[in-house]
Amino acid sequence: MERKRKLNYKRVFIALIGCCMLIGIASYLINSKAQAVKSMDNKYSDVEMKMLLKDSTYGGYSVSYPFFEMSIIDETLKNYVTERISQYEKELSTKNSSQKETSELSITYDIVHYSKQTVTIVFEEYKQIDKQDGYIDLQTFNFDIPLQKSLSLEDIFKEKSDYLSILSTISYAQLKKNQDIAASMHTLKDGTKPIKENFRHFSILEDTIVLYFRPNQVAPGHLGVQTIAIKKNVFKNDLLDTYQNNKANKNKIKEIQPPNAVAELPKKEMNIDPNKKVIALTFDDGPNTSTTTTILKALRKYDSHATFFVLGSRVKYYPDMITEMLESGNEVGNHSWDHPQLTRLNKKQVRSQIEETQSIIKKVSGYEPLHMRPPYGATNKKMTKYFKKMDVILWDIDPEDWKVRNKDKIVKRVMAQAEDGKVVLMHDIYQSSAEAAVEIIKRLNKQGYQLVTISELQEIEKLRKVE
Ligand code: ZN
Repeated sequence: MERKRKLNYKRVFIALIGCCMLIGIASYLINSKAQAVKSMDNKYSDVEMKMLLKDSTYGGYSVSYPFFEMSIIDETLKNYVTERISQYEKELSTKNSSQKETSELSITYDIVHYSKQTVTIVFEEYKQIDKQDGYIDLQTFNFDIPLQKSLSLEDIFKEKSDYLSILSTISYAQLKKNQDIAASMHTLKDGTKPIKENFRHFSILEDTIVLYFRPNQVAPGHLGVQTIAIKKNVFKNDLLDTYQNNKANKNKIKEIQPPNAVAELPKKEMNIDPNKKVIALTFDDGPNTSTTTTILKALRKYDSHATFFVLGSRVKYYPDMITEMLESGNEVGNHSWDHPQLTRLNKKQVRSQIEETQSIIKKVSGYEPLHMRPPYGATNKKMTKYFKKMDVILWDIDPEDWKVRNKDKIVKRVMAQAEDGKVVLMHDIYQSSAEAAVEIIKRLNKQGYQLVTISELQEIEKLRKVE
């Protein structure tokens, strides 16, 4: 009996060792090859999470990506992650085995938005080759679901929109608030310049657009990825309606709202020297597409500002002109709805002339004028209560451009009377006035004038009083 028992032990022992060896070999074989693991996304139960794993001591990686069962989307995402893996393996192939041992690639994703209209996937990548510092990178993908199309930023804005300028202005102003970022001003300026490459990474959420800046783009690498959330409201006139529609863009699950979303365009910083000459050009009776655009272009060229006293009835036809004026730092004032002599109207009529104009300007641009110029300059004590908080702004220099309709004469008249602190009256609806304005803007700048808005002029007057 004893003998037989001993024999059994031996057999069991040998069998056990055999099993261990088999398991060892098998697991070695499995581990050294990449495995594909699948499970469900942690937010959306209808999205599968795929994982590519190489659980090896030498150059391992762990990469996950979502699978929507929508071929264009799935292919794009899979191509992206496989391309990242092969890039990593290519970099590894030049290293020896001890360098490979300390290498790692990890790609994780987050579906930050998923609605009927769009889906946004943000990939975060951590890569370390040998012992050098790990590198964090980021990639975003936005898809239009009905169109089954990958979206770049230009696809979601109207063709005419100058969205890059808006994004540039906002991101520069926001990021500058961070002292560590502001310390490397050159990088910040370069990384927020209004060019497409600077705004390649973004996500379209319910009410906001989020911009992502990769390490080293706008700030030194160690500060990591920078993000800025901007309310869609800021782009009300620029964003295609498809991406503003509340119902289609509603997230399938409760969306996490990004904190500190920017709700309006930053105010242009006053960059005016109170010790130098200033002059305020004002243009009445517009807007008008061609002539107003000519003037705006000249103002931009010389980094100059002006004030446009517009008619509500014309804003209705050319709403985009108002945002264009404001975006480049100009000011918009109220010149009534359709140019009646207000002093001849009854209370109700006056009120509607003023309030309708305020409200259409606010509706198209979000901006509410601070200044009123009554048509023909006709006003009296009774009127001011209708103007509410608005200041009445008349003028010092009147070249009667509407009457002479001659570019040279207008230029001559304005230049002859130009003086520090004066307000010039012109009309941006005549070709001759627009041409004259271009010349006047050029000459005043040459003579050292700072061309300012009415608000800036008022600010300068205050500063000068204090000094
Ligand atoms: Zn007028």
